[in-house]
Amino acid sequence: MIVLAYHRVSDRTETSFSDKVMYRAENFYRDILWLKSNFDLVTLEHVSRYREYDEGCIAITVDDGYRDSFLLTSDICEAESVPLTHFVPSRVLRGMVLPWDHLSYLVKCTEHHESRGTVLGLRSIKTIEEKLNFIKDLKRHLKTYSEQKILKCIADLSIELEVSLREDRHSNLYVSHDDLCSVLSKNTLIDIGSHTTSHAILSRQSDEVANEQIFLSKVELEKTLGRKIRYFAFPNGQHQDFHSRHIEMLKSAGYTAAFSAEPRIHPTTECLFSFPRLCVNAHEELPVLLEDLRW
Ligand SMILES: [Zn+2]
Repeated sequence: MIVLAYHRVSDRTETSFSDKVMYRAENFYRDILWLKSNFDLVTLEHVSRYREYDEGCIAITVDDGYRDSFLLTSDICEAESVPLTHFVPSRVLRGMVLPWDHLSYLVKCTEHHESRGTVLGLRSIKTIEEKLNFIKDLKRHLKTYSEQKILKCIADLSIELEVSLREDRHSNLYVSHDDLCSVLSKNTLIDIGSHTTSHAILSRQSDEVANEQIFLSKVELEKTLGRKIRYFAFPNGQHQDFHSRHIEMLKSAGYTAAFSAEPRIHPTTECLFSFPRLCVNAHEELPVLLEDLRW
């Protein structure tokens, strides 16, 4: 069985500040039609029946809880009767903005032409290209930080670039409680999994924070949706982003399986709780990605 991971699927035409993982809705639809005619499309429940890595079964997942992505992919999968699991950071349902969206917003909106930021030193941010590179480098750095340090860095940048961090400016960016409930009530092939509470990379957190991210996200989603949350996807999802103690925490919290963002099983971790996922990106056609996986 192969699990595919999509990130932001969108039909927005504005691309200058979009993430490199942004995937066009028409291409997602094209993928679904191609997958339907070449594979058995299954739910994540099939993971527990996992025997062989490549057996012609594919499950589709979408990460991060963006509203456009959630609604578009759910509609397409509903129209084609294809199962789909969304991995959502629970706090976006309560208005939390993910750190990289804050960063992109601050850099995009500032009238300053340079940043003397404490993280990356003096940087020119005059052109769109410079701004994009700055955002990319900031994101890379932030991935190595704890939650607290990330929040401090964003607050400092907001002061430095003189752009306010008003959360309401991001309204409709993420899926809402009503969106989730309306889609789930009419489509039994769609499921929701946890992607922590705030998209924290577990290996960068203290054990206490990591456990909270694992446990509370499950509780919050279950309370909001009135259904059991069985699956978890590790933010960033590379093998260095989580450890075996996080797998123990996931088991104690009552999850059934957890998913990485690496296409192959990492030999040091247990496969049902670090099940590989193949990340689909805008730069490679899905049939080519799947073909490469065979070798
Ligand atoms: Zn994610």
